[in-house]
Amino acid sequence: MIELRIEEADWLLTLDKRRRILSDGAIDVEAGRIAALGKTADLRARGGAARVISARGKVVTPGLIDSHIHTTFQMSRGLADEVDSRAFLFERMYPYEGALDEEDAWVSIRLCLLELLKCGVTTFIDAGNYQPHLTARAAGEAGMRCVVARSTFDVTKSAMGALPAAFIETTEQALLRAEETVSRLDRAYDGRVRAWFQFRGLNNASDRLVTKLSELAGRHGVGLQTHACFARSTMESSQAQHGVTEIERLERLGVLGPAMLLVHAGWASTRELELVRERDVKVVAAPSSSLHNAYGNIVHGRLPELLEEGVAVGIGSDHASSGIVDLPQEMFLFACAYKEVRENARVAPPERVIEMATVNGARCALQEDRIGSLEVGKRADLVLFDTRRAEWQPLYNPVANLVYSATGKSVDTVIVDGRVLVEGGRVLTFDEAEVIEAARRRSSVILAKTGLADKIRPRWPVE
Ligand SMILES: [Zn+2]
Repeated sequence: MIELRIEEADWLLTLDKRRRILSDGAIDVEAGRIAALGKTADLRARGGAARVISARGKVVTPGLIDSHIHTTFQMSRGLADEVDSRAFLFERMYPYEGALDEEDAWVSIRLCLLELLKCGVTTFIDAGNYQPHLTARAAGEAGMRCVVARSTFDVTKSAMGALPAAFIETTEQALLRAEETVSRLDRAYDGRVRAWFQFRGLNNASDRLVTKLSELAGRHGVGLQTHACFARSTMESSQAQHGVTEIERLERLGVLGPAMLLVHAGWASTRELELVRERDVKVVAAPSSSLHNAYGNIVHGRLPELLEEGVAVGIGSDHASSGIVDLPQEMFLFACAYKEVRENARVAPPERVIEMATVNGARCALQEDRIGSLEVGKRADLVLFDTRRAEWQPLYNPVANLVYSATGKSVDTVIVDGRVLVEGGRVLTFDEAEVIEAARRRSSVILAKTGLADKIRPRWPVE
């Protein structure tokens, strides 16, 4: 039976192999999958559908994939402005994260999912945290698709600073807890939740932790992710501690491969970029966090070149501490920041950037056979953008408008597995007002625990 038909789409971006764009496009959904795709009249000839949604005045895209987001960091917005990468981590974000209890984390995760969903994200890769069961539960209940991981560190002091006591565990404890998370959560919620292994960053992970996590990822058939090469300080710290840069160290440990996801990679050297290509490593750009924190990923980054070479480069909104959590805005920042620093308007064209948030995101999530494009047989994950808004006018080329002028605010409908999660811009699977009110109430409790209140007051007199 045809459960759902989306029809009369002004523009339907398939992101299929030929990157076809259909006018007057339609999609039939059966058993959560795309059963047919084509012109509206052709699909109507297949018979009636239990439910029909008109996409007249809409641009339809595959569900957006946010390949790097810290769901427990949503309540850190405003806690880490105007600080360098070392202070950002050791003076602001680690104290914040170390203070989070389960209730704080739940409030943060739900707030994060609200922003993601309303901006058209159907799948996200959580960067790894200490409450992955809560991220899995919130996403599972909201109807979203995600990858979760338990965060691991086993080196408490690096050249950059010392971690808070709450994070300190032995290598064996970290491995045990990470494997428990994968055993318990991978393939939960009808397979929408995936669980991977993670080490937070190279400079706080021992060689043994990295190699054992890689072995476990191979044994469980799941991915392994980490932050890499995101600031001058992380590169210099690696050279000081290990005598090599970060990706070269991973090569020396023998862990680079197609199931490895590296976040940022803006400071990767020519040799490190060669390793990424040779080993089919996946990479994620997070433009807003680099721009907000002045990491230098855009100035030094070579990700537009990796994209042109076909490397799987995804895009992520990273965290609310850099302000926005809005994937269409991240697309704008990636496309335009590279143009500015290169003084070249042709670099990072909008076609490549939309691929980052769709087909490449699916490759980053190791699910390119299931999601990322609108093709028969794939899961029915899609987004309808409302183009009857001022920022979409005039509309000559939906690819250009989506990257250069739209934001997540124009998302009208979000569908995962054929289930409508957002309609008319409103989330259907949980109570938006309750999530926002919980965040408002909890913010003063969290701020008091972080001890950062004096550092983040308005600099102008409050009367
Ligand atoms: Zn991150």
